[in-house]
Amino acid sequence: APAAAAAADGDKGVQIGIEAKKEDDTPRWYQQVLTRSEMLDYYDVSGCYILRPWAYGIWQEIQGFFDGLIRESGVENCYFPMFVSGKALEREKDHVEGFAPEVAWVTKAGSSDLAEPIAIRPTSETVMYPAYAKWIQSHRDLPLRLNQWCNVVRWEFKHPQPFLRTREFLWQEGHTAFLTQPEADAEVLEILGYYRRVYEDLLAVPVIPGRKSEKEKFAGGLYTTTVEAFVPVTGRGIQGATSHCLGQNFAKMFNIVVEGANKEAQHVWQNSWGLTTRTIGVMVMVHGDNKGLVLPPRVAAQQVVVVPCGITVKTTQEQRDAIAAYTNQVVATLKKAGIRAKADTRDNYSPGYKFNHWEMRGVPLRIEVGPKDMAKNQVLTVRRDSGAKNPLPMENLGAAVNTLLESIQADMLAKATKERDEHLKNLVMAPWCTEPACEDQIKDRSARAKVEETGEPADDKAPSMGAKSLCIPFNQPREIKEGKMCFQGCGRKAVAYGLFGRSY
Ligand code: AMP
Repeated sequence: APAAAAAADGDKGVQIGIEAKKEDDTPRWYQQVLTRSEMLDYYDVSGCYILRPWAYGIWQEIQGFFDGLIRESGVENCYFPMFVSGKALEREKDHVEGFAPEVAWVTKAGSSDLAEPIAIRPTSETVMYPAYAKWIQSHRDLPLRLNQWCNVVRWEFKHPQPFLRTREFLWQEGHTAFLTQPEADAEVLEILGYYRRVYEDLLAVPVIPGRKSEKEKFAGGLYTTTVEAFVPVTGRGIQGATSHCLGQNFAKMFNIVVEGANKEAQHVWQNSWGLTTRTIGVMVMVHGDNKGLVLPPRVAAQQVVVVPCGITVKTTQEQRDAIAAYTNQVVATLKKAGIRAKADTRDNYSPGYKFNHWEMRGVPLRIEVGPKDMAKNQVLTVRRDSGAKNPLPMENLGAAVNTLLESIQADMLAKATKERDEHLKNLVMAPWCTEPACEDQIKDRSARAKVEETGEPADDKAPSMGAKSLCIPFNQPREIKEGKMCFQGCGRKAVAYGLFGRSY
């Protein structure tokens, strides 16, 4: 049995299978899936993790997809330094207040103290906008739409979780400037649409697009839009990615002005937007099962593994050679059809071992080829998501496998959507006044209710106990009727339906 062969955590020996059950011990399951699939390894700085090729390849797929969309839209890539002077960081008051507790500072070079400590970017508004003030002089310099792919550091004190909440993470950050608010507003939604596509089209994870409450919006910005994902197994929401309209706030602080048509100086309208490696963690949490990872075909670095089967001690060398040639032919055919396929021809492992190995790593489709398949000029396909087995003829194999991969992709999104909708009881959609004071009460009240319900003491480091507002969904369930009051009983009028829940 594969489970019996599994070595203890941290053992360098071969580990087959996941022992923890997703439903019983989700944190341990998550950790085992990530390490044993060779996505990630632990590191001796808390909150920092090593992304191995199996995870980095997924990030590169996400990058390629999103980068293609924004470049098509006219955004250009660039790179700014990772260090920011204290003076620049502190230019925008609300912004620095929001980020100050999490900023990491460099105070020394070797053994000598720096004259001025230098911050490591938690996000790059304050790094980039002094340059924007120089570059933007006339309305002809607008729009300016730049993006960078980089790392940022936020020294978070909440419990770190690989991918989901890390102290250093990889992301893209877009920073744009426009002459007018309508242009900025339109871009906020355009980008949010691309984020939705990353989750739904690539990662097969359904998201709810909406607007953040005043309390949850980006520090220093005008308003924040978000795609909210949901992890059914823990019943928690998670902010998938955010697209902010910064208004003219930063333009005023950094003096980014153009001369308007009437010769008057006019502050530009700015946006910023970011998507991080959190995406990978959400995908693992949503799709993974008790055998390990389940990768959506569109992001899997390897979409198909071909495993030669049915070889025994009685198999002649001639038959072995024929199966090897057949295996190569299958791989070549798939590659020609644009499919990321590889054969597992290791002769020191049994087919059963290989099945477990690739299932744990989440490869979307396994193709078995043995003497009987060869005789019938066919292969056997086994889906990772459903376990369904089906023979496919060699004729037109490439096209048939492409179709199959597309159905796996679509079925994974459908299944995840169904599962999310079945768990929506963990979330509350209620008529709300949207006032920050009211939101504070909601969090307190629900955290206390949770403590009473479970008898567990509140733990600041655990993912938040209390429910908070996740977003005000763009797709409102119904209109708020005149005279409808806030569900909290705060005495104010409701203005919109808010989505509330516990979150990561
Ligand atoms: P922000 O610049 O604060 O809007 O962050 C952009 C996005 O980064 C958020 O929408 C989250 O999805 C993601 N994010 C925030 N904090 C972390 C973190 N510590 N680790 C990974 N992703 C994060």
